[in-house]
Amino acid sequence: MATRLEAPAEEPLSSIREKIAVRGVVRRYPARSRRAEPVTALDGLDLALAEREVLAVVGPSGCGKSTLLELIAGLQDPDAGSVAAGGQTAARERRRACAYMPQRDLLLPWRDALANAALALECEGVPRAEARRRAVPLFERFGLARFERARPSELSGGMRQRVAFLRTLLAGRPVLLLDEPFGALDAITRTQMQEWLGSALADEPRTVVVVTHDVQEALLLGDRVAVLSPRPGRVVMELEVGFPRPRHRRELVGDPAFAALEARALEALGC
Ligand code: ADP
Repeated sequence: MATRLEAPAEEPLSSIREKIAVRGVVRRYPARSRRAEPVTALDGLDLALAEREVLAVVGPSGCGKSTLLELIAGLQDPDAGSVAAGGQTAARERRRACAYMPQRDLLLPWRDALANAALALECEGVPRAEARRRAVPLFERFGLARFERARPSELSGGMRQRVAFLRTLLAGRPVLLLDEPFGALDAITRTQMQEWLGSALADEPRTVVVVTHDVQEALLLGDRVAVLSPRPGRVVMELEVGFPRPRHRRELVGDPAFAALEARALEALGC
């Protein structure tokens, strides 16, 4: 039997929709130069996530998706409204609740795949040998067996993203924030990785916010999809995706109910 990661304990029902709560959030950036105008990235954004729910956030470029993730992750604070993760509003506490995976894999080129995956644990103070020992079983479980010693330059784009995801999982946080995780991959690898991520999350459930600009990806991954308006971003539509996870693109793309959800999301995006 494969060892499971130390999954964060289930929480009482009272906090069920409150794993992440974003209420009336406004985020303004000061002007970048004297000629530029200040930018209101988000204006009155509301979202709530239940424990172990996957929310896909889709919206046009520049509508504030990365800003939203950084706010939840405690890397920024809102100018108005409130953000809570794991019931905590202080930025430091939000940082403790969340593991953030940026768009680029950001693997360290001089470390092999295992050492890269173990990095999050080492940053938590786990000794290096112990961190690697804990990372090893995940390579087997998530389709990376025999690539432990490979350097990032020897791995395909999809494999590098898997290692980056393992590193994010190993951080042991209850909330995962994924910023366009497959944005840099070709179409075929992207489809494979969407299915891989769906299975990985079925195996290791977490509360997840995944940002994408791809409606089909959002519908394949999310229990719900939040569609954001152009900047300043706010939620213009939320769609419940009733299909059980993990999902397979082949089975869903021909399903009229899936096509109807896709059409609604595209309409909300003004496509
Ligand atoms: P998205 O992820 O949806 O593309 P972002 O959250 O990256 O959007 O950015 C939202 C808006 O805020 C964009 O117009 C962007 O140029 C602006 N922005 C982001 N970060 C800063 C910053 N540090 N200073 C000024 N403007 C910023």
